[in-house]
Amino acid sequence: MKKSIGLAIGGACFSLPFWFGGALAAQPGPINPQHIREDVKYLSSDLLEGRGVGTRGGDLATEYIARQLAAAGAKPAGEDGTYFQKVPLVGVATQPETEISATAGGKKIDFKLLDDLVGIDMSQRDSTAFDAGAVFVGHGITAPEWNWDDFKGVDVTGKVLVLFTNEPTSDDPKFFDGPALTYYGRWVYKYEEGLRRGARAVLIIHTTPTAGYGWEVVRGSWARELPYVKLAAGERALSCAGWLSREAGERLLGLAGKTVDELLAASEKASFRPIDLGIQIHGKMVSHLRELNTRNVVGLVAGSDPKLKDEAVIYSAHWDHLGIGTPVNGDSIYNGAIDNATGCGIVLELARAWAALPAKPRRSALFLFVTAEEGGLKGSEYYAQHPLIPAAKTAIDLNFDAVPPWGRAKQISIGGAERTDVLPLAENVAKRLQLGIQPDAEPGQGHYFRSDHFSFARAGIPAFSIDLGTEFEGKPAGYGMRMWEEYNRLHYHHPSDEYHENWDFTSDAQAAEFGFILGSDIANQDKLPDWRPGDQFHRQ
Ligand SMILES: [Zn+2]
Repeated sequence: MKKSIGLAIGGACFSLPFWFGGALAAQPGPINPQHIREDVKYLSSDLLEGRGVGTRGGDLATEYIARQLAAAGAKPAGEDGTYFQKVPLVGVATQPETEISATAGGKKIDFKLLDDLVGIDMSQRDSTAFDAGAVFVGHGITAPEWNWDDFKGVDVTGKVLVLFTNEPTSDDPKFFDGPALTYYGRWVYKYEEGLRRGARAVLIIHTTPTAGYGWEVVRGSWARELPYVKLAAGERALSCAGWLSREAGERLLGLAGKTVDELLAASEKASFRPIDLGIQIHGKMVSHLRELNTRNVVGLVAGSDPKLKDEAVIYSAHWDHLGIGTPVNGDSIYNGAIDNATGCGIVLELARAWAALPAKPRRSALFLFVTAEEGGLKGSEYYAQHPLIPAAKTAIDLNFDAVPPWGRAKQISIGGAERTDVLPLAENVAKRLQLGIQPDAEPGQGHYFRSDHFSFARAGIPAFSIDLGTEFEGKPAGYGMRMWEEYNRLHYHHPSDEYHENWDFTSDAQAAEFGFILGSDIANQDKLPDWRPGDQFHRQ
C-alpha cells in the first residue's frame, strides 16, 4: 500500500431505511469475519518474517494461500496445473561508482549521487555508459484529450530529456482534471513517454511543489535495491531514469543560461516547444543486479454459463510486505498485518464464499494474490503482461489493499469506479448494504495510480480498489480519519504494523460482502463492463 498522510474529511452520516437483500441474483455464501481474522493472524505472524519478496517467509505465505484456495475448492489457475504464476524480477541497486556529469562551453559539472541525483539503469546491466545532448521538454506530456503536446513533433531519439514532473495548470477547472492528478502528471509516465520517444535517459528536476514531497523522499525511495520485471531479450530501456535535486537542476540549467523558475513558467504554456539546452550529459551507470524469484498465487471458480465462463471477474490483493529490515525498538520484522494481510484474508474469504455457492454466477471468478506491490506494483504488472485470462475477457479487477479491522463501517470508498460504467451498480450495492460511498478526499495525491488495480487499468481492464471510508458505527465522527493518521504516523511500513487480538474484522467482512455482491452482479450481467467514454484508460 502507498498511503499518504491523512485521508482527510469526514463524510455525511448515511442511514438508509431499506434493505435490498432479497433482490440479489446470487445470495452470498456466508462471509465470516473470523476466517479473515485467522488468515491475517497467520500471514502477519513473526514466523512469516514480513513476507519479503524472494524470501522463505514469502514462500511460506504463498504456500499458505495456495492451500487455503485448495481447501476452499478453488481450482489451480496458475502454470502447469499449480496455483502459482512465476514472476521473474531483477533487483537493481545503483552503486556508488556511478558518475553523471554535464558539460557546455568548456564548463563541467559533476553531480553527487544521492545529494544531487538519484537514478536507475533500466536496461538491467552491470554497467552502461552514455554521452548525449540534453533537451528540456517541459512536463514531457503528450495528451491529445487536453490538446497538449510538449514535444511538438521534435525528434528526441538518443537524447537526455530534462523535465518537471506533474502537469501544467490552468484556470479551466476541467483542464487535466483540475486538482486531480492525472497519469500524465505521475513521474512514472515521464519515463514511459521518454522511452516511447527513443530517449536515452530522462532526468526529472525535483521541486517540492511539482513532486508533492521533498528531496529526502525521492532520495530515500531510490537509494536502495528496486525490483523490476525482467526485460525480454532485445527490449529497449532507459540507460538512466533519474531525478536531480532542485539545486542540481539549477546548476545544470545555469550551463545553458536558464533557471528553474524561468523554465517552470515556460512549461505552463500550450505553445511550449522543446528547448535544446546545448549541454552534453555524460553517464556511467554501475549497478548491482540480483535475480528475484517470486510468484503470484491464483485460483479459479468456474462460471455456470457455457458461453460466458471463459470470461472472469478478478479479485486481487498483494501478499508481499517489506520482510526483515532496520530494527525499530528492537523489532526487525515488518509484519504488514493491515498492509496487506487484511486484503489477502478478504480475497481468501471471497474464494470460500464463491466456491460454496450452490449456483455459480455466469462468469468465472479469479482469485489473484500478487507479489512485489511494495516494490512498485511489479507482480500485478507482470500479471497484466502475462494474463491467465485475456484482458478482453476480463470483466473487472476489484482490488483490496490495507482494509483496516476497525469495527462496523458506515461507508466504503471506491475511488476510480466513476471512471467505469460500473458506478451505478456499485452505488446500488452500497445502498443494499446500507453503506455510504466516500469520495476521494485527496484527488491531488493520485491514489488511483498507486495500488495494484492500476496495473489492470493500464492493460485496459476496468479496475478499482474497495476500501473503507472514515465513519464507523458507535464511534465519534471522523474516527477512521484519526485512526489512519495514527496508523500512517506510527505503523505504516513499520515493524509495528502487527496483528492485535482486539481487532474487530466486521469492516473487512463488509468490504468482502460489498465486493462479493458487486462482483457476482458483474459476473451475471449481459455485457462486460467498460470505461466511461473519454477516460484516459480504455479497453485495448
Ligand atoms: Zn505498503
